[in-house]
Amino acid sequence: MSQTDATEQSLSGLSRIAAFLRQQDWQDGERLGLTPTQMAILHLIRRRGPLRIAALAAQVGATQATVSDAVAALVAKGAVARVKDPADGRAVLATLTQAGERTVDDLADRPNALDDILADLDPRDRGDLNRILVKLVRGLQEAGAIAPQRLCVTCRFFRPHHHDDAAKPHHCDFVNAAFGEPQLRLDCGDHEAADPDQARRTARRFDTGPPA
Ligand code: SF4
Repeated sequence: MSQTDATEQSLSGLSRIAAFLRQQDWQDGERLGLTPTQMAILHLIRRRGPLRIAALAAQVGATQATVSDAVAALVAKGAVARVKDPADGRAVLATLTQAGERTVDDLADRPNALDDILADLDPRDRGDLNRILVKLVRGLQEAGAIAPQRLCVTCRFFRPHHHDDAAKPHHCDFVNAAFGEPQLRLDCGDHEAADPDQARRTARRFDTGPPA
């Protein structure tokens, strides 16, 4: 199989999974009276806390006008409230109401075949999957195709291949603990961006593996 064929096969698999997730979103949306953009906004605010429209738009991958309309609809439904940004009294943050929190709980509780498959992966497969996902997401971020994400590999606390232990080679300075590839984070609330030099060194060490 040529390199091009192999890439097409990988893209075909990723696009099949993306189609399944979109289909789930539409089904959940119909049940709860929400659009996929509105659901994405609720999930983002739950994970990251109150956010401005510009930050929501960057993470959702939609225009500010689209996100602003979606937030207005969520406010009308009682799922989101607008509050003043404590860091800048002229700016407004979108935050979840109690009803919004219940909606996100409802979305998390619904059965999802992919959740079950992921939960059944053995640690080695999960570690392989996480490492590949980190590379794909970091690559998209470096290409400017998506907004910066809160990945271990871009975090100032991350020490890749710091330990001589195949099960737990990495170290997080934030919690001062070793961890393995199954625990690599793709959206960590404690993430702090490394400076560009450290980020380059960390990525190189993560990609090349432990020193020989
Ligand atoms: S703080 Fe979070 S993102 Fe940073 S190294 Fe630790 S687990 Fe990874």
